[in-house]
Amino acid sequence: MKIAVFPGSFDPITLGHYDIVERAVPLFDKIIIAIGKNSQKKYMFSLEQRKEFIRKTFEKFPNVEVDDFEGLTIDYCKSRDVNFILRGLRNPADFEFEKSIAQTNRALTRENTIETIFLLTSSGKSYISSSIVREIISYGGNYEIMVPDAVRVENIDK
Ligand code: ADP
Repeated sequence: MKIAVFPGSFDPITLGHYDIVERAVPLFDKIIIAIGKNSQKKYMFSLEQRKEFIRKTFEKFPNVEVDDFEGLTIDYCKSRDVNFILRGLRNPADFEFEKSIAQTNRALTRENTIETIFLLTSSGKSYISSSIVREIISYGGNYEIMVPDAVRVENIDK
């Protein structure tokens, strides 16, 4: 089975993430959207809310699953017997950042290579990021145009 892990914070999931997953669906037998837990990081949405947004967003996609993990992405991939990591690229800054991570992951998994597959963002989606969405939410702006319908602010943990 060709399985890909799409790792990220998804705080919250955006139409940029959605675009990458939707386009990757025909390429893999299964996609696991995996929320990396970082105890040092402060999130706007709780882990359960982020998972629920993703679950609802992809409820019509039988081959898309949501999970969470702690620690290195490659260790999570090994634990799930996955050989592909899926990432999105928006701009040159993403490229530089992703290149060093992908090369590190290759170096760390010499004997059992995990390949990182990159999809370029669709035009019109490259400006979307979770951090911009959070900023708009915090000032009461119209964040809805950047996120799937399942993401709604009334669900924020107070
Ligand atoms: P991280 O905390 O790892 O950056 P994110 O949830 O911000 O996690 O992003 C997860 C992945 O989704 C990354 O590969 C990122 O480049 C990609 N991504 C985020 N926004 C977009 C977008 N608008 N278009 C394409 N890819 C995107």
